[in-house]
Amino acid sequence: MSGGTLVHLEHRGPVAVVTLDNPPVNAMGAAVRVALKAALDAAMADPAVDAAVLTGAGKHFSGGADIREFGAPPVDGPTLVGIINAVETMPKPVVAAIHGTATGGALELALACAHRIATEDAELGLPEVTLGFVPGAGGTQRLPRLVGVPRALDMILTGRRVSGAEAQAIGLVDETAPAAQLLDAAVALAMRAAGGAVRRTCDLPVPATPADVFTRAEADLAKTARGRVAPGAALECVRQATTMPFAEGLKAEREAFLGLVRGPESTALRHVFFAEREAQKVPDLGAGAVSSNIRRVGVVGFGTMGAGIAISFAAAGYQVAVVDETAEALERGLARVRSTFEEARQKGRISEEECAARIARVSAGTDYGAFADADLVVEAAFEEMDIKHAVFAKLDAVCRPDAILATNTSSLDVNVIAAATRHPARVLGLHFFSPANIMKLVEVVRPQQVAPEILAVCLDVVKRIGKVGVVVGVCDGFVGNRMLFAYRRQADFLLEEGALPAQVDRVLRDFGMAMGPFQTGDLAGLDISWRIRKRLAATRPKELRYSPIADRLCEMGRLGQKTGAGWYRYEKGSRTPVPDPEVDALVKSVSAELGFTRREISDEEIIDRCMGALVNEGALILEEGLAARPSDIDVIWVHGYGFPRHRGGPMHWADHAGLVRLLDTVDAMHASQGPLVRPSALLRRLALDGGRFADLAKSGGAKEKA
Ligand code: NAD
Repeated sequence: MSGGTLVHLEHRGPVAVVTLDNPPVNAMGAAVRVALKAALDAAMADPAVDAAVLTGAGKHFSGGADIREFGAPPVDGPTLVGIINAVETMPKPVVAAIHGTATGGALELALACAHRIATEDAELGLPEVTLGFVPGAGGTQRLPRLVGVPRALDMILTGRRVSGAEAQAIGLVDETAPAAQLLDAAVALAMRAAGGAVRRTCDLPVPATPADVFTRAEADLAKTARGRVAPGAALECVRQATTMPFAEGLKAEREAFLGLVRGPESTALRHVFFAEREAQKVPDLGAGAVSSNIRRVGVVGFGTMGAGIAISFAAAGYQVAVVDETAEALERGLARVRSTFEEARQKGRISEEECAARIARVSAGTDYGAFADADLVVEAAFEEMDIKHAVFAKLDAVCRPDAILATNTSSLDVNVIAAATRHPARVLGLHFFSPANIMKLVEVVRPQQVAPEILAVCLDVVKRIGKVGVVVGVCDGFVGNRMLFAYRRQADFLLEEGALPAQVDRVLRDFGMAMGPFQTGDLAGLDISWRIRKRLAATRPKELRYSPIADRLCEMGRLGQKTGAGWYRYEKGSRTPVPDPEVDALVKSVSAELGFTRREISDEEIIDRCMGALVNEGALILEEGLAARPSDIDVIWVHGYGFPRHRGGPMHWADHAGLVRLLDTVDAMHASQGPLVRPSALLRRLALDGGRFADLAKSGGAKEKA
């Protein structure tokens, strides 16, 4: 075996085997490219070599280009696109032997090889659009030549990965082989191909394409890629594969790639990609990876949240014991577990055996003794401190001293819950969002006494159940809901001053939010926050501005979708919000009652005020040390609140929208609304110094020193 450490070259008879070896995923950064080019050139120049096999060491073929290089200044040396084009025109056939993942540039490299062979469970995909650009090394030109336009569009526009088995069925790979025989089979395939004319993907015609394929794909994108640029650009590239000669199509694709890769969409999407990884690190634990030994999970309460939490753990393979107080609750909870998994089976998402196994993993009863062997217990009982105390006292008595105890409370003080237990170092909050089996976000709430390792274990468990965990400090509403209150309040005030719900919702939807705030309220039900407001009414400072519109709606019995009317009305059986003159009249009468002269509210003002309040609250949270990094807040808002991923989350968006302008809006809101909008000192400092939230990560923290 010869070659550098990043790429090995060895010989199997007349076949040169070139192996990428850059753990963990054989990413093809600058140094790998130099070594790869050298190995391939050596193989081609060697008269004893008739063909080559290209493969990856370890678990994967390759994850493709090194994402950190995108958006950075170009480096000297061979480019991936240069290597890929060279591979296609090499005088001897090159066979790609694929196991694990072959994504992005790695799949583009494989597409340029003469032949491909894969394990059945390999994963092949072109995820570029999910990072805001198009495949830039021939993917959009070669894939349609191998699998046809409809299948190429399906993969390229969504970033969907196909298995090795599916890849063979659609003609993306020539053969499949078991992992243990992959290399032997690839060498045999290379020997069969040697000597004959080398098959070049670029010479294949694009299979005839049904006329309406592109129009249908465009219509789909209008729904699924609202406000996005990359998917439409990728569609154009594939269309060009059908209208242009290969070399021209390649050139057009490259131009599209270069135009997008440093643009705002890609910058934002790459930011979120790295933010999600960064959020996995507990700051005071350094980079130390902690992996959990959690197998058995307990859940207290089989209500709305408890059932969703139990479903999430059971689906990921954990044994789940649920305890509730009444037989009805247990019956209802188990029925929900069963129906959720049955539905997944009926839709073909899981097999019959998997469905049965998931249901069997959940046991339910009234005896807390079921938690004796639990490694983690998540409490989701009623939202009352006395009940939480009683539950944790019982958990203290029955659980092992090393079991982790978590509360799903959304509004109670986790420090108080923890302090009343015997081992507060193992007590924390795991704040799931409703519906808990669907929503990805989990706030990992950090009370004062919890051990950092416990946070790390919980982040790991949250990831294993397919969710995104972010560590947050203890405060009213934690990070996500606290920011939501500030944002929502401006939406309400805008109504009093002259806007209507449909305008506010339209503007924020056009900004990219999954839903407008009033539409969201109707979906969630308006009575939950009404109950909280009624509880807090006695202590609310009367001199502060307060919008009574939501209370009036509830008093009218308009509780949202479930009552057929809320901020909008809903036709029977429909979830489509229809603006309602009755609500508009209510809004106008409240304006008059409060002495507002209604005025035209511009769309711009809606964005400025809602986003200004949101970002300012995020900055206050950073100052108070309740989130470790601005990017953690971005992850929370992208995964828990429908903030558009392609805008990178509120703090990333603010950096790019301009902090000076946001600060001006925040100051103006403070001038008219007083302490309801408390301008953040951090936001002011950054705005005045020409700084950015993104710089805080580098300067080592966000906490403002007073
Ligand atoms: P829920 O009323 O639907 O369910 C609570 C369940 O807990 C009931 O089945 C009840 O019988 C059971 N229970 C009450 N006391 C118990 C005890 N001592 N031992 C065992 N079981 C007991 O409530 P929910 O909406 O699922 O909320 C549960 C918790 O999750 C609350 O703390 C809530 O604040 C929090 N939360 C709710 C949401 C949401 O959107 N619903 C979101 C995040 C967090």
